[in-house]
Amino acid sequence: MDKSEKKKYAIKVKNLYKIYMIGTNKVRALNGVDFAIEKGTFCCIVGTSGSGKSTLLNMMAGLEPPTKGEIIIAGEHMERKNEAQLVNFRQAHVGFIFQSYNLLPNMTALENIALPLTFQGMDKAKRLKKAKKALKLVGLQKFGNHRPGQMSGGQQQRVGIARALVVNPEIIFADEPTGNLDSNTTLDVLKLIKKIVAENKQTVVMVTHDNNLASYGDMIIRIKDGKITEIEQNRQVNDNLDNVELGGTLDISSEAAGGTAMSAEQSVHQPEAAVQPDAPEQTAEAASVQTVKVPAYDGYHPQTSGNDQGSA
Ligand code: ADP
Ligand code: MG
Repeated sequence: MDKSEKKKYAIKVKNLYKIYMIGTNKVRALNGVDFAIEKGTFCCIVGTSGSGKSTLLNMMAGLEPPTKGEIIIAGEHMERKNEAQLVNFRQAHVGFIFQSYNLLPNMTALENIALPLTFQGMDKAKRLKKAKKALKLVGLQKFGNHRPGQMSGGQQQRVGIARALVVNPEIIFADEPTGNLDSNTTLDVLKLIKKIVAENKQTVVMVTHDNNLASYGDMIIRIKDGKITEIEQNRQVNDNLDNVELGGTLDISSEAAGGTAMSAEQSVHQPEAAVQPDAPEQTAEAASVQTVKVPAYDGYHPQTSGNDQGSA
């Protein structure tokens, strides 16, 4: 893509296929998908269970390779990168929010938030400073020393949001981020994500099975049986979303610039582990096939904090 296109789009997906073999059966999880998401968009991908949402998200995030097709983020082709390059790319450009929060149970909220920064080789004082700012941003400044088990689901997900934001990523991927929350908390969390990323001109790609939630998106991509059935641009409709109370603005960007740039140091900070990026949904069918093996750890923990069904 040329320079102006690179400036305009956060993500481009071209002719994307993912085919799983189960025995001799071919499952076309993605069956020829094309779209482009402009920078600063809150994009919702909506479809029923099994429609291919998580597969699509995981592929965009470089967590799983496509069978065929192209994914271009920040002008770079994800499908051409090897595992080490993908890890570096995610550390520099991407944040994740999980359905089951995926916080480390033995760490405090602040420590959880600071974790992705350790993989950038940042010193402890700086990490804590940034984590505190992110914690304030999600309105939890009084909960820095709480462990996940001492917080409600909504609070835990706010910590999860702060952790995704702390590296100041250009893109945030969220797979059913409110799937474990009650309806009031769901709206709070959704508005919080939306407001923060709008202020920072970040791009969010959120997956949901819930049409009502998807209606909050500036862009709505409907997916069915691995194919896009409709793309809706919805920006004007959404400009009058109620504000939520926030604890400040995210002013970690300028400081983070040095931290998010790729450095030689980063490559030293890559312990190996498998990560399960997506909590299984509550269908036996989906649960049996959804475990995704991820090449390397990049600041998010595979196991969940206990009080959700992600580990079921
Ligand atoms: P969604 O997130 O929309 O519920 P998924 O992307 O998880 O859907 O799955 C899409 C389809 O691909 C489903 O039919 C699912 O069973 C299948 N699938 C997903 N992951 C795997 C896998 N690792 N192996 C085999 N089939 C899979
Ligand atoms: Mg899914």
